[in-house]
Amino acid sequence: MTDKISAMSRLLHHRVRGLRKGDAVALPIQASSTFLLPGDPDGSHFYGRNGNPTVEAVEAELGLLEDAETVLFPSGMAAVAAVFHSLLGPGDKVLVHEDGYYNVRALLADQFTPKDVTVRTCRTAGMTHADMTGCKLVMIETPSNPGLDVCDIAAIAAKAKAAGAILAVDNTTATPLCQRPLDLGADISVMSDTKALAGHSDVLCGHVASRDGGLIGGIRDYRRLGGAIVSPFDAYLLHRGLETLELRVSRANHNAMEMARLLAGHPAVKRIRYPGLPGDASHEVAARQMREYGPIVSFELKDRETAEKFIEINDLCIAATSFGGALTSAECRVRWGDDVTDGFIRLACGVEPTEDLVNATKNALDAIV
Ligand code: PLP
Repeated sequence: MTDKISAMSRLLHHRVRGLRKGDAVALPIQASSTFLLPGDPDGSHFYGRNGNPTVEAVEAELGLLEDAETVLFPSGMAAVAAVFHSLLGPGDKVLVHEDGYYNVRALLADQFTPKDVTVRTCRTAGMTHADMTGCKLVMIETPSNPGLDVCDIAAIAAKAKAAGAILAVDNTTATPLCQRPLDLGADISVMSDTKALAGHSDVLCGHVASRDGGLIGGIRDYRRLGGAIVSPFDAYLLHRGLETLELRVSRANHNAMEMARLLAGHPAVKRIRYPGLPGDASHEVAARQMREYGPIVSFELKDRETAEKFIEINDLCIAATSFGGALTSAECRVRWGDDVTDGFIRLACGVEPTEDLVNATKNALDAIV
């Protein structure tokens, strides 16, 4: 297949090109924990923890998106944990975002600090100037969730390299269609595929990708020994989501941009963050390194009660955590202990027709002024 076509077209067509007459066009789910193995092992499938054809087909699709070898995990946190477990040992130092997904810091505090790993934190907006001296690993998340600050991946990659540190980027909010950390110099891209990649709020999964054979080999070994294996059924659901990824992501991102414009001009809104808005503090860096700006808009209403009411009366918005699904959802992030005001809402746009979503949201905002 020609190299000139996009990763998305390759993802859609690469597997079916190998089919023979009568083969199933949809990806077969091979639900077997064991495979026929007469005689000695010869590299063919033999046991589900070591390899499964359905899971491998989906890893190949993710590999086309990332342009890198990819290892699939049963959740985003399992993928993050694999990065930490395969790289960090007693005496190591890790620098991590202070304002990104909170469970990443919780994992380090709970499982690694007691084992003599030193954890340093820095806010996403200040990462370019962070002290990386002596760090084995630097982990950033951009745009950060839920504050939507953006940091310069290429600049941080250069700094991490100079300090001898490995740079891992959590690319969950952007997706590889909109931001390419490995092209910008990161060593590892890690994601929760539970969000946009699977895209239908019906499965948990995640992946780690790297172009460094040693790093990704270590991740694969950790998964085989640790046993954090995705079931072929869940891998299939991810595959189904991946086939419509570009359509869904582009609609959700467009919806987010239109919602940001609406929110920015509405008197009920005290403050808004969206990297796609030209006046946003993150816009300049985001415009340099992102193709589109993601499905999440963060904003503040007067107080918690007003924010809860906005979510309740918006006809096209469900009260739920997570993002990247088909339905628009929103929540007050203060309920998870994020460092935000009471009226702070994370709005995660779905794929509803834009005009409907904007009208429903305008109605809800007008009703709470
Ligand atoms: N990274 C980010 C940025 C997330 O938002 C999340 C989940 O919300 C995760 C990682 C963890 O992913 P999962 O819920 O699939 O374990």
